[in-house]
Amino acid sequence: MSTTTSIVTEEEQKPEVEQIEIWKCKATECKAWVRKEFVTEALPTCPLCKTQMVRSYKHVPVAAKKGNKKFLVGKKRF
Ligand SMILES: [Zn+2]
Repeated sequence: MSTTTSIVTEEEQKPEVEQIEIWKCKATECKAWVRKEFVTEALPTCPLCKTQMVRSYKHVPVAAKKGNKKFLVGKKRF
């Protein structure tokens, strides 16, 4: 097993990430979360288990936006 090699490979393939503001479910066994920009309530509840949600941050890969294909053509980002 070559653990070191696999770590280096992971680093090289690390995608760009952005930090987003989210609401996440307080229930530890519940993985539900939603982007803050999609929430209009001051204190939203979890759509899955109805538990109160808390403000948090999350790092997500920078995804290609829909309708932005023109920009991606010729750029060949991986
Ligand atoms: Zn929940």
